Amino acid sequence: MDIKITRATELKPKFTDEASLGFGRIFTDHMFIMEYTEGKGWHDARIEPYHRLALDPSSTVLHYAQEIFEGLKAYKSEDGKITMFRAIENCRRLNNSAERMCMPKIDEEFNLKAMETLVSVERDWIPTSAGTSLYLRPTMIANDEALGVHAAKNYIYYIITSPSGAYYKEGLAPVKIKIEEKYIRAVRGGTGEAKTGGNYACSIRAGEEAAKQGYAQVLWLDGEERKYIEEVGAMNMMFVIDGTIVTPDLDGSILPGITRKSVIELARSLGYKVEERRVSVEELMTAARSGRLSEAFGTGTAAVISPVGLLAYKDEKIPIGDGGIGKISQQLYDTLTGIQRGTVEDKFGWVTEVK
Ligand SMILES: *Cc1c(COP(=O)(O)O)cnc(C)c1O
Repeated sequence: MDIKITRATELKPKFTDEASLGFGRIFTDHMFIMEYTEGKGWHDARIEPYHRLALDPSSTVLHYAQEIFEGLKAYKSEDGKITMFRAIENCRRLNNSAERMCMPKIDEEFNLKAMETLVSVERDWIPTSAGTSLYLRPTMIANDEALGVHAAKNYIYYIITSPSGAYYKEGLAPVKIKIEEKYIRAVRGGTGEAKTGGNYACSIRAGEEAAKQGYAQVLWLDGEERKYIEEVGAMNMMFVIDGTIVTPDLDGSILPGITRKSVIELARSLGYKVEERRVSVEELMTAARSGRLSEAFGTGTAAVISPVGLLAYKDEKIPIGDGGIGKISQQLYDTLTGIQRGTVEDKFGWVTEVK
């Protein structure tokens, strides 16, 4: 399928200060969009000026949340070279999410081409300073114009892009995290391993309550026994216990992060022992109390590595390590962001160039 490109005749004013870009607030001049109709498949793939969507008020997505999305970044170096990081993995994961949510798949190579073509069209929107990127938000929504709970027959897939500022303005910064006792995010057999909006909708209340108490994120426990560590809002979690990196295994209710997967591969190549297994909150708190938990950090596309300085559970608040940034967290952050930006050799073949 060809991608028809219609360029905007009037371009939006571009940002002047990369340092104040923030995240997800401004969008570029163009978007990729195509439609799916049962019997016909995906059709009319095109890049056109960024615009609002006109949806019928009965549209499936607005009532039954049949929706999936992705999040990834494109980078531009000072000399103008544009790269993306493991984008094909996002195309694969989108299809896994589609499978769970009864939505149509998209040929992975074609989806990658759609992303790369859009990034290429928007090349002047990609910031270049350290930590900045062009964030891509591929999104698929169900769009039948009728009520009724069943898999829709019509879908829209679109990709929008947003120039993003550096997540950290002055180096890595540790956050305080609350282990959530009251609310849950996902259960095995549910939709936890799909990147779908509903998982976020049900997490908002816990996030709001934690924020009021001064915590940056909620660390979810498993929905059945509330005993095992799962993940935080949009990040997977890793812990350094007795020098070993331990992370919850993908048990069906955890989102399989591409940063998680990359950190595991990278850490092993750097000689660290990495265990993917169930981690109980009891094991974690015992290790924290005795000082054997030397580091904890989240992994995700937005922050790459987000060190945790303090864990709160029930009435206990335990600083991790010295409450600052751990050695392993810093090393993994520097190496992974270096690979992403092209300043550290990419032995894994993760980075692809966009022409
Ligand atoms: C997207 C997401 C992540 C992180 O995935 P990356 O591919 O590393 O960005 C982790 N948890 C949840 C719930 C997510 O939605």
